[in-house]
Amino acid sequence: MQHNLAIIGFGGMGSFHYKKLLKEQEIVATGVWDIKPERREYAESLGLHAYTSLEDLLADDSIEIVLIATPNDVHHSIAIQALEAGKHVICEKPVTLGSRLLGEMLDAADKAGKLLTVHQNRRWDRGYRIVHQILGEGVLGDVYRIESRVHGAHGIPGDWRQDPKQGGGMVYDWGIHLLDQAVMLFPDAKIKSVYATLNHVTNEQTDDGFFIDLLFDNGIHYTVEVGTSHFITLPRWLVLGRDGTLMLDNWGLEGKIVCAHGEDDKDVTPVVTAAGLTKTMAPRREDTIKTLPIPDIWPDLGEYYRNITACLEGRESPIVTPVQMRRVMRLIDKVFEAAECGQVLPFED
Ligand code: NAD
Repeated sequence: MQHNLAIIGFGGMGSFHYKKLLKEQEIVATGVWDIKPERREYAESLGLHAYTSLEDLLADDSIEIVLIATPNDVHHSIAIQALEAGKHVICEKPVTLGSRLLGEMLDAADKAGKLLTVHQNRRWDRGYRIVHQILGEGVLGDVYRIESRVHGAHGIPGDWRQDPKQGGGMVYDWGIHLLDQAVMLFPDAKIKSVYATLNHVTNEQTDDGFFIDLLFDNGIHYTVEVGTSHFITLPRWLVLGRDGTLMLDNWGLEGKIVCAHGEDDKDVTPVVTAAGLTKTMAPRREDTIKTLPIPDIWPDLGEYYRNITACLEGRESPIVTPVQMRRVMRLIDKVFEAAECGQVLPFED
């Protein structure tokens, strides 16, 4: 059954939904509202209807669902207006700027009896899925540390992402994805504390990178790091267990899983360094380790919109739930608070 969707904000991501993510879906994009005339003209050139205003779009009864893909600061007001007009709402990430505003949006969704969800598309990243599977299989033994990083070298983009009033900054841009992945890897564990520092390498007004350290009540230290001035990048994922290590580079397309195999060599050959010998830092002998293949996982992002269709038809509940949205947004609030005071802060999860 066809469900009509309109896109609000037809820039980079709005048009990506239309061209890629909505392909072969029962949800069909039929119209667009963007404040820029050139984006509306572009939408028309693709055969979409360009509305004359947001109100014009929301008054169209043929539209069941809206996708909000504007800069971050206006997600909140547009979502509430759309929900009050009786539309289901998918919001691009971050759903909004902080948990107070999210609470208002969720209240509006409850009152309207409509769906409000967010496009956490990086739950379909191959690397994340590989880490998820490896943790589930327990092949690394007790995991004690996870490091999840994204590094670039172009500084923060020169658009609205530089503007704090528009919800710019890397915590909202990338942190939201990486923190969502962190909490989704351990849905049953609670976060006990949060420490964070924000970087301002290329500009003063917005964070162009950050370091976040989470401590889970299962003992796992989880580091999330984003940098935009890294001319040498570190691995995308590092997962350390008592019996093995997983490393994934380049968005999970290359990597290694190395595990203990048999007894450790008690008679270790020391490594010779300029300042002396070390047995502690010597590598394991080849016959005491084994290298496992990276699981052959190719996630299907089409699941996202198929799930939304099933939600509209009452067959499923949303993959990205209000509880998850609140949890990640409260975590983001805490990240800013911890960065401001420079302390490890307790988190009530
Ligand atoms: P963009 O600047 O390319 O596009 C934003 C568009 O919104 C522009 O065309 C602009 O004219 C329009 N716009 C601005 N204010 C508006 C308003 N009040 N009403 C209607 N239209 C308005 O930005 P982008 O990169 O497409 O980002 C848009 C959203 O998508 C952001 O929330 C961003 O975080 C998110 N995003 C998500 C992903 C992802 O992987 N999930 C990737 C990129 C961007």
